[in-house]
Amino acid sequence: MSDTTAPEKHVFQAEIRQLLDLVVHSLYTDKEIFLRELISNASDAMEKLRHVEATEKSVHQPTLPLEIHITTDEEAKTLTIADHGVGMSHEELVKNLGTIAHSGTKAFLKSVKEGAAVPGSMIGQFGVGFYSAFMVAGKVDVLTRSWHADSPELLWTSDGQNGYEIEETSGLDRGSKLVLHLKEDCAEYASESRVRHLIETYSNFVGFPIFLNGKRINEVEALWLKNKSEITDEQYKAFYQFACKAWDEPAYRLHFSADAPLAINALVFAPSENPERMGFAKAEPAVALYCRKVLIDPSPKDLLPEWMRFMKGVVDSADIPLNISRETMQDSALIRKLGSVISKRVIRMFEKEAEGEPEKYRGFYRKFDRFFKEGVATDHANREALAKLLRFESSMTEPGAVCGFADYASRMKDGQESIYYLVGAGREQIESSPYIEAFKSRGIEVIYFTDAVDEYVVEALGSHDGKKLVSIRHGGVELEDQAAEGESLTPEQTTALCEFLRQELGDRVLSVQSGKRLVDSPVLALVPADGMSPQMRQMMKAIDENFKDEIKVELEINPRHPLVRKLAEAKDSDPEVAGLVARQLLDNALISAGLLDDARDTITRMTALMEKAMS
Ligand code: ADP
Ligand code: MG
Repeated sequence: MSDTTAPEKHVFQAEIRQLLDLVVHSLYTDKEIFLRELISNASDAMEKLRHVEATEKSVHQPTLPLEIHITTDEEAKTLTIADHGVGMSHEELVKNLGTIAHSGTKAFLKSVKEGAAVPGSMIGQFGVGFYSAFMVAGKVDVLTRSWHADSPELLWTSDGQNGYEIEETSGLDRGSKLVLHLKEDCAEYASESRVRHLIETYSNFVGFPIFLNGKRINEVEALWLKNKSEITDEQYKAFYQFACKAWDEPAYRLHFSADAPLAINALVFAPSENPERMGFAKAEPAVALYCRKVLIDPSPKDLLPEWMRFMKGVVDSADIPLNISRETMQDSALIRKLGSVISKRVIRMFEKEAEGEPEKYRGFYRKFDRFFKEGVATDHANREALAKLLRFESSMTEPGAVCGFADYASRMKDGQESIYYLVGAGREQIESSPYIEAFKSRGIEVIYFTDAVDEYVVEALGSHDGKKLVSIRHGGVELEDQAAEGESLTPEQTTALCEFLRQELGDRVLSVQSGKRLVDSPVLALVPADGMSPQMRQMMKAIDENFKDEIKVELEINPRHPLVRKLAEAKDSDPEVAGLVARQLLDNALISAGLLDDARDTITRMTALMEKAMS
């Protein structure tokens, strides 16, 4: 058609239709959050305008005030939200309001498809904010004019079903104006008092003045630049929920300013809920970078270490050049310095909080432990400091209770050089393993690592506070001799038995020795320190069903154990049975260690042994 004023019809991308359907039909419980989302968009648009202006580009109508104007019309059942932000060009309207551009939105849809439960108040987190307008409106008009000099004035309109229309219009100032034509059952949002209440609840902290029907209703302040003593907990919480687009309560906060080595004002929060743990996609960085109140990047990838992606907040540094781009940020020494100062402060904050209120920290840690562990494994610079934040059970904690390396250190024996640990599936499994015996009887604490990722974490850590982390599964752990109780083989008998076992067991063992470790068990299989752990082997087997590796263990025998003493006799009096018993003992030790792959021989041998016992 040649008529340029005729509305141009567009169909929503399939994902948007899906999203709209979800927003309108499933997330109806928290309808009222739509206003927060739209105010947040208006605020974002004006933040962007400030940034454009600050980077010395001239904008259309530079003198328009950066304010949000909300008007209600009970008769017409409309609610209007207007800003003088960046506005949108034709292309931007199509892209921003008609397709899914955000990785966050995609992640959201994916999570929902995968069955994650989504509280309505969470949608803002995923960048589906604009579409929440259709929870309350049967039709939405977006009147917009971009900041670019020769941009057209446009009207975007949609009923939120299949598509939208765009046409040219006139009489618009720079920015966007959303007119919500409210649904019958949502007419309440055209009432001034209702809307005022909503703004006060959700958006009191917005960096721009908000006017409702011409009356100013919020205070404007860059909270992070204010003095701590002037800010209430309520204000902090409001800031967290609005500025950080959070829906939960902050668990911890850190508010500080520094002048050297960099000028920094930072206000960061640790949330109380962890969506990643609830099955949602990996979070995007959420500590925004500002320079003198101008937003540089809401989600800077290279500011903080990746494991800190659960933290939310604002870092404002007057030393950052305004026009720094994402590319230059990546290799900017300034950004690295800034990030390093902040991550150190954050870790120290956790350390103090953990000391001050251990119970609270324990609850927090239960939800966020994976981030700290990821940090230990990947953030070399903060590794030692982060290790102090780790919590685990040990042979000296009550079941379910946890401790940290500092507690462990305080209980170390005189002259103890290493920190001992065992990786296993759980407390019970670890406690029933034969490795524990010797340590328990000597009163040496053993850390229980029971999370699937712990093995990597320990490996990455290697040592803590100058003390090596040593798996008690490994050979070569020197324990002090204990006064032997009860009858024992003589040293000569022991040597002879070890020799016999080595002959019998051939290359299934690396060595056979009399051990100091055992109290109740006859034998113990130790993995050489460079060998693969049972957890690692299990994983290899899961990946590759043909996986086979020759397990060779160091066998320790207990010369005081009755079975071992009998075996020493039997090797001369009944070598055939002694041979069977020797191999069976090794299998038993492998089973205890979780290292026996194929039990067929074991069973055949057991049968033979039982037959002999009966005859
Ligand atoms: P998000 O705010 O997380 O980006 P939304 O669904 O809320 O997601 O908004 C989608 C996009 O639409 C925004 O990223 C922005 O580009 C554009 N947009 C929405 N509201 C406005 C507005 N008032 N002014 C300019 N652009 C806007
Ligand atoms: Mg938004």
